Amino acid sequence: MKFARIATLVTALSLPFSAFAQEAEAPEASESVTPRLVVAISVDQLSADIFAQHRENFSGGFARLLSGVVFPSGYQAHSATETCPGHSTILTGAHPGRAGVVGNRWFDMSVAREDTRIYCSEDPTVEGSSSSDYTVSTGNLLVPTLGDLLQRVNEASQIVSVSGKDRAAVMLGGSGADHMYWPGDAGFTTFAGRELPEAVQRINESAMQAAVSSRVPLPIPQHCAAYNRAVPIGEGITVGTHVFSRGPTTDSREILASPEGDLLTLVLAADLVSELSLGQGETTDLLAIGLSSTDYIGHAYGTHGVEMCVQLTALDTMLGDFFDRLDARGINYVVMLTADHGGLDLPERQVGQAAPRAARLLPGFETLDERLATETGLEAPIVRADSPFGDFYVDRSVPEGRRAEVIDRAIAMISAHPQVYRVYGRDEIMAQTVTDAPPEHWTVLDRVRANFHPDRSGDFIVVLQPRVTPIPQPFPGAYVATHGSVWDYDRRVPILFWWPGAEQFEQPLGVMTVDIMPTLASLIELDISDVEIDGRCLDLMPDVAETNCR
Ligand code: ZN
Repeated sequence: MKFARIATLVTALSLPFSAFAQEAEAPEASESVTPRLVVAISVDQLSADIFAQHRENFSGGFARLLSGVVFPSGYQAHSATETCPGHSTILTGAHPGRAGVVGNRWFDMSVAREDTRIYCSEDPTVEGSSSSDYTVSTGNLLVPTLGDLLQRVNEASQIVSVSGKDRAAVMLGGSGADHMYWPGDAGFTTFAGRELPEAVQRINESAMQAAVSSRVPLPIPQHCAAYNRAVPIGEGITVGTHVFSRGPTTDSREILASPEGDLLTLVLAADLVSELSLGQGETTDLLAIGLSSTDYIGHAYGTHGVEMCVQLTALDTMLGDFFDRLDARGINYVVMLTADHGGLDLPERQVGQAAPRAARLLPGFETLDERLATETGLEAPIVRADSPFGDFYVDRSVPEGRRAEVIDRAIAMISAHPQVYRVYGRDEIMAQTVTDAPPEHWTVLDRVRANFHPDRSGDFIVVLQPRVTPIPQPFPGAYVATHGSVWDYDRRVPILFWWPGAEQFEQPLGVMTVDIMPTLASLIELDISDVEIDGRCLDLMPDVAETNCR
């Protein structure tokens, strides 16, 4: 039965290699009670909403995780619900404000280079580096990861991080990771000067062969049929019916925005488990896996079409096969799966399906500098931002004596935009303390505060109204839907724990992704009492007399 599922999947994707091959020899099962391998999985953009929509149809890896401890309403509690901040919370126990990862990009007006925008996982000290052409680095992450803390106790612990995005691999792995792989120009790559293991060379060959092959359409499972409905969104773009057929491609995004991307990542992860004998030494190892395809698919096609249904069905199967392969090696492991943020479907489909206030961003932001120049007599650029919401910075060309005036004028102009919910100034944010209230009861200011780092955050923070998609009319090939807001569709993510023998229970109240690190630490009996974090250990033992949190 299982073999048939694997065969169907691999044939459907026409992958020219035997994905998830059986282990030739299953090593002896571990006698240890403490897990020897922590598998931490982040499914990029897996919102609590789409997980709830599809969970009854899962029969593979997701179903296995649903037989463990289930938090259907986990929270990426902070305001900047983007990939880099989201991944930074998962294995550090720290909100982005503490971790220093306030966005995918932020501005540093003190850097010498012309491009003052900093990418979250770049090394800005490398000569010629820019936020779009950079050298990957863990240097911007200001706090230790679970992997770093494991290695503090025992250097023999192997820390491995692999993802479809560099920023996910970096934020999950941390500065001490022994192995870190992400897609570069020619397949999965790593830091300069490090050798690529055989597993990486093998997957890169497979990826190259996959790219020059065509793909037949993936079958539409019966439970996905209702999602298979064309939604025209202008400029000749239609989404809702794409099932990942393609011709040979030189564009890696076409592979990443399909189940193939996650298959490549998971096969690489499984092969690294074998090659590095993860979970089979004297100490506990950590394998972090960032699965990016759900996010690329959400951006390209939205979250509520046949594309997402087919993707999650394929991912369920692939995760099941991945866990089977860990079982076959006899490893004593614990799995945690969550997401870096949720997501919002495209407004055109939402309006057609009973969400009337959904809309694309109206004009106004693009003329901000022009209007400020007229009012102040200053020359553009005057304020800088990476998007029409979140952190806004006064440009360094503005004289110190005029900054306050520029900020006041900019806040007044932006606040007048009909889709702006509120603009928060730096003083108002800093006057707030980071709350420890349950995340479903946080005010918007609480969310902004947990995201705020005094050296990296903006001079003011713009929050758009709920259900506003900050993408005006998309052009062909551009993203049609996104995430990043302070609202719960972007904050809520599932958090799942499973290990052999885990007793099943579900806790519907809110918990946070910053709770994951201390919880995993407790399960592997790692002392983190001297580490400053924002999360708390979750008691995963349903029996009131038992707890993993000490
Ligand atoms: Zn993401």
